[in-house]
Amino acid sequence: MQPSKPHLETRAVHGGMEGLEESGSHVPTIDLSTTNPLPNVELGGDSYEQLATGGVLLPGQSAVYQRLWQPGVARFEESLAGLEGAEQAVAFSTGMAALAAALLSTVTAGKPHVVGLRPLYGGTDHVLDNGLVGTTVTWAHSVDDIAAAIRPDTGLVVIESPANPTLELVDIARVVAAAGDVPVLVDNTFATPVLQRPIEHGATLVLHSATKYIGGHGDVMGGVIATNAEWATRLRHVRALTGGLLHPFAAYLLHRGLRTMPLRVRAQQATAQELAERLVGHPALERVLFPTLPGCDPDGLLGRQLEGPGSMLSIELKGGYTAAAKFIESLKLVSHAVSLGGVDTLAQHPASLTHRPVAAEAKPGGGIVRISIGLEHVDDLYEDLTSALT
Ligand SMILES: *Cc1c(COP(=O)(O)O)cnc(C)c1O
Repeated sequence: MQPSKPHLETRAVHGGMEGLEESGSHVPTIDLSTTNPLPNVELGGDSYEQLATGGVLLPGQSAVYQRLWQPGVARFEESLAGLEGAEQAVAFSTGMAALAAALLSTVTAGKPHVVGLRPLYGGTDHVLDNGLVGTTVTWAHSVDDIAAAIRPDTGLVVIESPANPTLELVDIARVVAAAGDVPVLVDNTFATPVLQRPIEHGATLVLHSATKYIGGHGDVMGGVIATNAEWATRLRHVRALTGGLLHPFAAYLLHRGLRTMPLRVRAQQATAQELAERLVGHPALERVLFPTLPGCDPDGLLGRQLEGPGSMLSIELKGGYTAAAKFIESLKLVSHAVSLGGVDTLAQHPASLTHRPVAAEAKPGGGIVRISIGLEHVDDLYEDLTSALT
């Protein structure tokens, strides 16, 4: 018997698994077909028309060609959409391909102007700042700047919370109110739907770099946008014509990742919280940036919008760039590497790496180190971090 209203953990395990009995499998099979047999000319044409314009595969139709529809990708999308409380989701080869598709579809809808709230992920900041896909940007530095930045040709407001790398929290409902009719895209990579579901607060598009917590093991890239049916159709249309596809094997790994994501996110979060508390007041540190620490959540969003602080932790070293570099290079257990959200702890220096292309006035301080806390034992991590600090 199915539970009447399954909880997030249950949906994470069972989402996108429908109809497996027919194939006699316990888990989805990985279908690598690039093309699919067409039963007859008329049905082939109808299916092509439906899928190439961004529609979903209808019963009885053919998937035609992998660029148009892929069953394993559709399973992953269905599960993620369910976790975010969205009507649909559309997956891409990377988080940046997903963002580019959203920007392209706003450009083709005749609304190329984007309002971006800084700070954002370095790549997002860069693609908006240089207008590579035909958008223009107005930067907002607080939610209060957003309403005045909206123009008749504004197609999208782009925000991220918790934000990269300072872990500032943004009040999504306030952004949505300020944006009026303009859809709001929230990068939910750091929080995951386990801790935050932006659609519940009025967002139209929820973007993930699935490369991070969704995959969770540092071995697969992907991106996904959860949204309403209308936007999903526009995004699939862009995907079908520009080809930023998720590979079926990547879709399999990401779908599998969702099943343990609630467990991983909460375990990593508990360790991060413990480390944040232990590191506060360390003589080598200017400050520790973590949502549960005093001063880090001025708008009181923890508990109201964000269920828990997550497992991204930033520290600012007193000795600036030089001290940060020395710290990172002294770590033994923790790897010095970009990316986040995996089972192993990674540290990186945003000012020189992920936020390198960001304009000087918006670049994080040279003393900041961003740490993605993994599943190691808290005492081992504490020992490595503190010995590298001294
Ligand atoms: C990594 C990341 C991206 C970009 O995703 P890719 O999968 O690397 O293309 C976007 N936003 C955030 C917050 C990220 O951490």
